[in-house]
Amino acid sequence: MVEAGEVLTEDSDIEIKMLPCRVSGLQRLANNVMGLTLKIPEAAVFHYHAGQYIDILLRDGRRRSYSIANANQDQGLLELHIRHMPGGVFSEHVFTVLKEKDLLRFRGPYGAFVWRHESHRPAILVATGTGFAPIKALLEQAFSEKYKGPLHLYWGNRQQQDFYLLELLNGWQQMYDNFSFTPVLSKPLDSDDWKGRYGWVQDAVLADYPELSAYDVYASGSPEMVASAKAVFTERGLATDHYYSDAFVKAGD
Ligand SMILES: Cc1cc2nc3c(=O)[nH]c(=O)nc-3n(C[C@H](O)[C@H](O)[C@H](O)COP(=O)(O)OP(=O)(O)OC[C@H]3O[C@@H](n4cnc5c(N)ncnc54)[C@H](O)[C@@H]3O)c2cc1C
Repeated sequence: MVEAGEVLTEDSDIEIKMLPCRVSGLQRLANNVMGLTLKIPEAAVFHYHAGQYIDILLRDGRRRSYSIANANQDQGLLELHIRHMPGGVFSEHVFTVLKEKDLLRFRGPYGAFVWRHESHRPAILVATGTGFAPIKALLEQAFSEKYKGPLHLYWGNRQQQDFYLLELLNGWQQMYDNFSFTPVLSKPLDSDDWKGRYGWVQDAVLADYPELSAYDVYASGSPEMVASAKAVFTERGLATDHYYSDAFVKAGD
């Protein structure tokens, strides 16, 4: 079990493994986001904490990191949300070549961006783009543990078409009194006719929560948002060891 402030490293309680997996599903979640479902071999055991990520190992030796978007691996399935980077080595492959039953290899799990079971502070979860993937896993974990504290998700995207799994989020809002969701757009199209929150997602949090000393914040997605959110939230009283983040930095190759 992971305590607040603890850092999970490769020496953590979970064994890092290299495993083959088979593509068992490809689903277009949004115009530029593919949901990829990977099936782990039945004989293999793979444990991870909700919020962690794996490295997909490419044939040429390069690797690309992707957050696991589901908390529980039902029937050995891992869910990834992959944003299309035009010309990108792996994401282009996913959008143009990869098909069901193809084999991939991965190594993991990695990362310290995990649900803090022991914290009783209310949680604010902040995502941009596919930064929603590990946050979805954290929320599933919190719900499965019957966490009763407030969980407020802010998800920032450029345009309305970039959101996905909204039915799931709306369903969670109906099902769980302690969960709320605020979508935020930074560059809405005229056709969006957007009447909701506008601007940077971290600014939307600040507008609603002027004082953050009593909170945990989980932030995931663009490195710019993750860095900016840390700076502005700590100015508003958030303790740095109550700020948990996962920045989707570019691969170094
Ligand atoms: C811990 C971690 C978790 C991640 N989880 C996810 C996830 O769940 N879903 C997801 O879609 N991505 C995630 N990423 C990003 C992912 O690892 C790849 O960087 C991304 O998919 C691009 O890989 P590619 O091979 O398609 O593009 P590349 O061939 O690496 O790059 C192609 C072009 O895109 C640009 N580019 C690459 N990455 C970025 C970036 N992050 N921001 C801006 N420009 C970029 C490059 O500069 C280049 O011009 C994660 C990264 C990290 C470090």
